[in-house]
Amino acid sequence: MKVKMILPALAEAESPFWRPIKYSLFPPLGLATLAAYLSPDDDVDLQDQHVETLKLDDQPDLVIIQVYITNAYRAYKIADHYRSIGAYVLLGGLHVTSLPDEAAAHADTIFLGPGEQTFPEFLQDFKKGKPKKRYSSSIRTLEKIPPIRRDLIKRNLYLVPNSIVVTRGCPHHCNFCYKDAFFEGGRSFYTQAVDDALAEIDRLPGKHLYFLDDHLLGNKKFASSLFEGMQGMNRVFQGAATIDSILRGNLIEKAADAGLRSLFVGFETFSAANLKQSNKKQNLKKDYDQAVKRLHSLGIMINGSFVFGLDEDDKDVFKKTVDWAVDNAITTSTYHILTPYPGTKLFKDMEQQGRILTRNWDLYDTRHVVYQTNNLSAEDLKNGYDWSYNEFYRWSNILSASSKHESLKHKLKHLFYSGGWKKFEPVWNFLIKTQNLNNILPILESILSKVPYTNTETLVDPAPSMLPMPPVSSTQTRHPTQVIRFKNEFNK
Ligand code: SF4
Repeated sequence: MKVKMILPALAEAESPFWRPIKYSLFPPLGLATLAAYLSPDDDVDLQDQHVETLKLDDQPDLVIIQVYITNAYRAYKIADHYRSIGAYVLLGGLHVTSLPDEAAAHADTIFLGPGEQTFPEFLQDFKKGKPKKRYSSSIRTLEKIPPIRRDLIKRNLYLVPNSIVVTRGCPHHCNFCYKDAFFEGGRSFYTQAVDDALAEIDRLPGKHLYFLDDHLLGNKKFASSLFEGMQGMNRVFQGAATIDSILRGNLIEKAADAGLRSLFVGFETFSAANLKQSNKKQNLKKDYDQAVKRLHSLGIMINGSFVFGLDEDDKDVFKKTVDWAVDNAITTSTYHILTPYPGTKLFKDMEQQGRILTRNWDLYDTRHVVYQTNNLSAEDLKNGYDWSYNEFYRWSNILSASSKHESLKHKLKHLFYSGGWKKFEPVWNFLIKTQNLNNILPILESILSKVPYTNTETLVDPAPSMLPMPPVSSTQTRHPTQVIRFKNEFNK
């Protein structure tokens, strides 16, 4: 059987702010994960439109398309095309799960939620000539999942081909996040067996890894065993975790010992009212400065995520947020305009309040204001968002933030990482054009090399058993998805 798997490009690909490097970071792992369930005899073509020109003149039997909110219209066009030439078309992903009826109009079969159980079930039904119109995931396990078909990934087209996901979902319930909608009807946070995760790591060549898990420290027992198992594997890695998990116990030290060198952290907002509005309990009453100090003491660089436009925000929020990030030596910042994705609690609340201003999904990219704002005007919000990016990534601020680290090595790492990411666009474009992106991995690995630890004793929170509240985490744009993960970590 001829199978075509497609990740259509996001709408932003046609925007003047398009940064090709941002979408040349991670391969479409979710599709490669599903491909593992196909027969070895199947002829599989996996295409990622962000890094290659989509070929539409072929004649596949089965087409599988990954749908996000801002590639939805493009995905539907591609689906319509393949259906018109007689292919059987499957749609799945976050947007399909959120708005199944919309997607169903362009598909022969749609998938709701994670695909590890439902895709093999579909394949069996398809072989029997009795595929259903809709498959909805209810059993959630990563036991005995076949190894990802990494052979389908064109490694040279990505900066970080060694991306990996060892958990699914997240233990938290932020109301702007897709996670609860995507995992509805079953478990919403579960992990691989530690040995399976270690075996997957072992299969990856080179040194660098990027964990795309929503919350790598979300299951203490799993993460602890994983980091212990990674001791001696000589890896450097990046990942994401929440503020409370950084402050609690000694998991973050174990992660650093195993090779953690940079972490995505969802700070989102400094306002307790905004955190409550977002149901982001894991950040409430947590000392952001202390979390930052603790990471820096372990030589871990920080990618901070911040959301603008929550109801308490006023015109001061932009300067306050950027100043804090520079003063606290945050290496890279990702800013988002609050976006009520369909299917989320935030969307439902705003819809009830009559605050949804448009259903043009192309604008749901966290760069546009799509809802009725509260304290800020839409214009101020958009201008403040643009200002924040420009301000944070001014050379003077990059230099100022870098200089705040203790060791010279950490200062230089910060400077190269932050400056390299935002200030050398022509170089990135040249590397992408010449398909040499993957060849600069050794440079990234050296930027992620170890920095000697400094004293952390005064920074540590009590062990979990002593905490008055249950451990509670991340970000607007870290979208959990089983069918595919796509990291919006480096925005704009
Ligand atoms: S935003 Fe992050 S921490 Fe919150 S529910 Fe989603 S993945 Fe979890």
